[in-house]
Amino acid sequence: LKDSYDVIIIGSGGAGMTAAISAKDAGLNPVIFEKMPVHGGNTMKSSAGMNASATKFQAEQGITDSNELFYNETLAGGKNTNDPELLHYLVDNSASAIDWLDTMGITLNNITVTGGMSVNRTHRPSDGSAVGQYLVKGLYANVMEREIPLFVNSEVKEVVVTDDKASGVKVDFNNEGEITVSSDAVIIATGGFGADLEMVTELAPQLEGYVTTNQPGSTGDGIKMAQAIGAAVVDMDQIQIHPTVHQESSYLITEAIRGEGAILVNQQGERFVNEMETRDNVSAAINALEEGYAYLIFDAGVKDRVKAVNTYIEKGFVQSDETIEALAGQLGMDGATLAQTLTSWNETVASQVDGAFNRQTALNNPLATAPYYAIQIAPGIHHTMGGLKINSNAQVISTEDTVIEGLYAAGEVTGGVHGSNRIGGNAVADIIVFGRQAGVQSASYVQSKE
Ligand code: ADP
Repeated sequence: LKDSYDVIIIGSGGAGMTAAISAKDAGLNPVIFEKMPVHGGNTMKSSAGMNASATKFQAEQGITDSNELFYNETLAGGKNTNDPELLHYLVDNSASAIDWLDTMGITLNNITVTGGMSVNRTHRPSDGSAVGQYLVKGLYANVMEREIPLFVNSEVKEVVVTDDKASGVKVDFNNEGEITVSSDAVIIATGGFGADLEMVTELAPQLEGYVTTNQPGSTGDGIKMAQAIGAAVVDMDQIQIHPTVHQESSYLITEAIRGEGAILVNQQGERFVNEMETRDNVSAAINALEEGYAYLIFDAGVKDRVKAVNTYIEKGFVQSDETIEALAGQLGMDGATLAQTLTSWNETVASQVDGAFNRQTALNNPLATAPYYAIQIAPGIHHTMGGLKINSNAQVISTEDTVIEGLYAAGEVTGGVHGSNRIGGNAVADIIVFGRQAGVQSASYVQSKE
């Protein structure tokens, strides 16, 4: 550890590692401080994929998409409350972010859909595995290859300001007490606050009693540290619940299961919602059921296409049987009803018209290959859409509406990109696109001072 670096990055999730790599490639000497014993943050748990429009992989696969469509669908999903400047920046730089990852050996060329999009736009690893672990592994390899120092068990407590400019941090290494490390710029990439249930329920009292899918380090530290030096926040009460969380373990069940064809049924064995609706609407439909939970139902084809299912089976989340009737029996459900639900679903897939709930995507695969599977799920706290106010240069904005010099932020710690409802796959786009921008912009700032 040195007593000074060009730029200090707080947090080693996707946004932090991306910022560090970009800053290094732009000529800076960065350091990453991570408070947990392991790197990766909540990014490690992310499952669906990375949304990006007009990418080379979409073109190769004959998928027609445009930045305008990506923008409009994200804005509609966020109920028109997304920050237009930030959303434009995200969308317009999404394809180049896919290319950038590809040049680093991180290839997301397996494309699916999540709720709230009309075309396949969610880019996943080619083997269908969860995006988070793959991404963290790839980014970490690039951090190591560039010899960027990454210190774990290093909790940043404060951003230091000198002459109105960010000039370093106070950090506690291994609980040995705080020391000051100085720098020309600071990038906050500390993630959200979904693991701080007190903070969550203070901002959104209706979420009392929900489980959280977040790793324990997601406690909003970066938001509090930046607020202490005058930063503004936006949309703090906009907290996303994810519809498909295994309740006993708080484990998120990936949206890719629905994207690859699964349906949701209630305890009676009947569909009750367009499964590809946005997360807020699917969650509300589950909460409106008398039982307050639902089952994801799928077949061996979905299991083969979504590798995460194997993990869910190992963890004991999945019930399965050779026939639909037998599976229904295990779930305490009427076999004839569930069988009828699947028969009509397969007719819907054949006709491509969902008369019951108007589902328009993920209609490609009938659920017809034994064995059949079920996972019981209900909503859980998942993502905090609000956070630090930034501009499209990833600069942190003060409560006086001015730029705080030398201070940058990227990823879930920021607010504005997603508005009041995040589309699945947009968090990974956010951390890569704005992580890169924070790295590049902090570099040009630091170099302009030299
Ligand atoms: P993002 O998706 O925006 O990159 P993540 O949740 O993946 O966010 O990563 C944020 C990381 O920041 C986590 O690993 C978390 O433990 C770490 N972190 C949070 N607060 C601090 C802090 N005060 N000091 C150092 N690291 C922190």
